[in-house]
Amino acid sequence: MENCLFCKIIGGVIPSTKVYEDETVYAFRDINPQAPTHVLVVPKAHIADCNGINTENAAVVAHIFEVIPAIAKAEGLEGGYRVVSNCGADAGQTVQHLHFHILGGKQLSLEMA
Ligand code: AMP
Ligand code: ZN
Repeated sequence: MENCLFCKIIGGVIPSTKVYEDETVYAFRDINPQAPTHVLVVPKAHIADCNGINTENAAVVAHIFEVIPAIAKAEGLEGGYRVVSNCGADAGQTVQHLHFHILGGKQLSLEMA
């Protein structure tokens, strides 16, 4: 997707602070952190949002949920963390490439962060 911000980050066209990478998943620090640890985990293949998850691509989403606890452990989030995915305008989704926020490092409120 040539006009997708996160596809450009995955491709290295736009710089990011990498936290984790494998064949199908990329994770990087959010540019506007809402908590002491704020990491975004994305599939390398473009999926717009949760509504774009289907039988063909569900394996990468499952893999993301294997990777998330490993990232949380590496980030030292022993006290817990929150995983958030905003889907659509009412949720405040601003980047149309499926991503999972990992938030932690403080006592989180019931707001997103
Ligand atoms: P959402 O609002 O759920 O779509 O989340 C998009 C997230 O992407 C926000 O938390 C932004 O701070 C973050 N973001 C936007 N641009 C960048 C960037 N260039 N590098 C890292 N994070 C970004
Ligand atoms: Zn994309």
